Amino acid sequence: MKHPRLLTAALLAALPLPALAAAPQIALTFDDLPSHMPYPAGETPVSVVDAIVAALKQAGAPAFGFVNAGKGEADGRDTVLDHWRAAGFPIGNHGFRHLNLDKVGAAEFVAEIDRNQAALAPRGMKPWLRYPFLAEGKDPAARDAVRKALAARNYRIAGVSLSFDDWAWNAPYARCAAQGDAAGIADLEVRYLAAARDDAEAARAASQTRFGRDVPYVLLLHVGAFDARMMPRLLALYRDMGFRFVTLEQAQRDRFYAATDPARPGPTPALLRTTPLSRPGDEVCPA
Ligand SMILES: [Zn+2]
Repeated sequence: MKHPRLLTAALLAALPLPALAAAPQIALTFDDLPSHMPYPAGETPVSVVDAIVAALKQAGAPAFGFVNAGKGEADGRDTVLDHWRAAGFPIGNHGFRHLNLDKVGAAEFVAEIDRNQAALAPRGMKPWLRYPFLAEGKDPAARDAVRKALAARNYRIAGVSLSFDDWAWNAPYARCAAQGDAAGIADLEVRYLAAARDDAEAARAASQTRFGRDVPYVLLLHVGAFDARMMPRLLALYRDMGFRFVTLEQAQRDRFYAATDPARPGPTPALLRTTPLSRPGDEVCPA
């Protein structure tokens, strides 16, 4: 008589690798703390970040926030940062006032980084930079000067390999909310989730083509009011697609992110998706 446990062992041996080992990894990053405009009536930077934090906690998902300490003081900046840090989520540097390196040049840009770091040091800021506008310096001299300054300060650069332009939904949402256009908001919801799915599927296909594997993905999001509204559904979408949530530090240990060490040469990893996605514009709930 066959032993049922032996049967089970034989069956297990015939199975492919455990699904967990093959699960693609995704790290969630949120830019523009404390505030990402515009806000519909009744929403504030604090209510938005509280909703995002609650959704992350519910999903058991880690997240990394990138802060402009020079913004939003009158709109609850300190409360936003208190709540984010109290939830156990780290913060990094996004420049004091969100200035564009390509417009201000290396010297002013580095001064912005230092000013932001001094403001955020009491909150335990980690030496990680997300470039505002993802602008790392079109001018090679400016680019190298900033990277040299970052290396001297032991920074890592936060890469971006997934983005579906989540920020672009916040202005149409505020307009639709002001007009009481529920159908417009419902349309935005469908399109937001479709864009997130299309972006992730395109990135995974590109990663398989280029590397024969899933690199760990780093997703760029913002602390916008529509992001907060959609966060439970967005996290469920990624989970249903098989993604496993990891920290930014875990994701960037992968060799794909080697050049996010500013002392290492090479371009910082950019979006894996190469095809453009549609996003809502002025035609949605026009002003
Ligand atoms: Zn930003």
